Amino acid sequence: MSQATEQTDIVIVGAGFTGIYMAHKAQALGLSLIALERGGGVGGTWYWNRYPGLRCDVESVDYSYSFSPTLQQEWTWTEKFPSQPEILRYLEWAAKKLDVTKYFRFNTEVTAATWHEDITRWRVTTNLGDTVQTIEAKYIVWGTGMLSIPKIPVITGLEDFTGLVLNTATWPQTPVDFTDKKVAVLGTGSSGIQVIPIVAQQAAHLFVLQRTPSFSLPANNKALAPERMAWIKDNYDQYRADARHSRLGCVTESVGKNFAELTPVEARAELERTYNYGSPMRFSSTFNDIVVDQKANKAAADFAREKIRERIADPILAKKLMPDHYITTRRLCIDTNYYETYNRPNVTLIDLREENLVRFTDSGFETTKAPYDIDIFILATGFDAITGALNRIDITGRNGQKLAAKWAVAPSCYLGIAVAGFPNMFVVAGPGSPGPLSNVVLSLEQHVEWITAMLTFLEKEGITTFDPTVEAERAWDDHVAELSNGTLMRFADSWYTGTNVAGKPRGNVVYMGGLAPYEKEIIEVATHGYLGFTLTK
Ligand code: NAP
Repeated sequence: MSQATEQTDIVIVGAGFTGIYMAHKAQALGLSLIALERGGGVGGTWYWNRYPGLRCDVESVDYSYSFSPTLQQEWTWTEKFPSQPEILRYLEWAAKKLDVTKYFRFNTEVTAATWHEDITRWRVTTNLGDTVQTIEAKYIVWGTGMLSIPKIPVITGLEDFTGLVLNTATWPQTPVDFTDKKVAVLGTGSSGIQVIPIVAQQAAHLFVLQRTPSFSLPANNKALAPERMAWIKDNYDQYRADARHSRLGCVTESVGKNFAELTPVEARAELERTYNYGSPMRFSSTFNDIVVDQKANKAAADFAREKIRERIADPILAKKLMPDHYITTRRLCIDTNYYETYNRPNVTLIDLREENLVRFTDSGFETTKAPYDIDIFILATGFDAITGALNRIDITGRNGQKLAAKWAVAPSCYLGIAVAGFPNMFVVAGPGSPGPLSNVVLSLEQHVEWITAMLTFLEKEGITTFDPTVEAERAWDDHVAELSNGTLMRFADSWYTGTNVAGKPRGNVVYMGGLAPYEKEIIEVATHGYLGFTLTK
């Protein structure tokens, strides 16, 4: 069934941190807006990821909106690292407070978006159940998230398995009981590392299938002391300003020196200090050059390995759990009792570098070494990140060009915000933005505010279309690549480079210059009349 085409100034897709803030800004600009979300409520990634143990690896007082003094003063975080339920409650509350929930159509999936040159508008097609809706909009803003499409590996025979199959990224809304169950978890990134200790406490037996060990630090999570929260509220302005002027978008209290500027004793003391604090942002800021200089990186990685070793009773097991990549070039995780979980008698590590996963059967799985009977299988296998959400939507720009086809060659995106050949379209935290390696909430705020300023300019000047030039886009891609190749990220294999998904081109999808320098660059573009964009009246 299809309905009459609706008209609006702006379509916003996604009801996560981006969509909520963008709707608030569009409302203030006086633009008519329709916001679309495939989930049943606001929250974005925090709506879908509900596995037990999930909490953010950025501290709550950083991982929250900084733009509104009212929101900051009225919301009180209860823990150092916010749990998924607390973040979801926060987003639901913020959306209501900003009065934007009314703009969202939930359970509504965008299936296609096509640019129509004759009317200089996007035609957006959505599905709500069996109903097809078509909306024509002057602008479209994708707030579809960097980590919203689960990566599901192809596993032979999984369809024959008669037990329960779960995915951390699309966890059921009701709690899952693991009591007396034999469970297997595939994947040892941030999600696996958080869910494994919780499942191990309940299950009869837990098998962990590990291919690549991650670096993880103890979160040292705790209740936020009322005095600390009160201090933050009194000093939020300065706290946020310091974050906005930093490279990672949060306060790290780093000594601000390169590794070589410290004596070995000083370097060790700094590593102990940031490790004991418990925060990936702080640990990865121990030395300025941790992701640039091999010696600095090795010092931090050796230290982290030493700490991992201390947490595992069996030295053979400890060896299998030892990561060997450049630290911080894959996500540096935080955990609560992750390594200690392997000291439990009901936990078995299956090292997929020693035995291959061959197939699933009706009762479990077989590796090259043995068969394993299980009741529940949990995929913690990550995401088709950054480009994944938009690649799944049939997006057609000028001259019939498909976005997915363009990004199959390389994930090009001017400023990490706009794509040449796709006019009047904004991508929040697209490829080439600092989002993945920063406090992403602040990164998204930067984007939304920059987009709002551009919309104001376009409306005031009576500009009908904007489109980044191919040259400007290429120059930005080269700039991002150069920044990335100047760091150890050039060796990374993970969602940071797209290599976690078979067939995806390896890309420099992270702007490695840092959040504050990035903002300087995009503001420069704006103050010079939107350099690199073709603007048509
Ligand atoms: P991930 O970091 O990409 O980890 C996926 C894991 O699954 C890896 O261990 C990977 O091994 C394994 N895997 C994937 N396909 C496999 C296959 N076919 N066979 C064997 N192993 C396979 O994904 P994630 O843990 O969901 O985390 C993704 C990102 O989400 C994080 O980096 C973080 O930014 C965010 N996140 C954050 C939090 C938090 O804030 N605490 C929590 C969850 C997620 P290989 O590495 O060998 O491919």
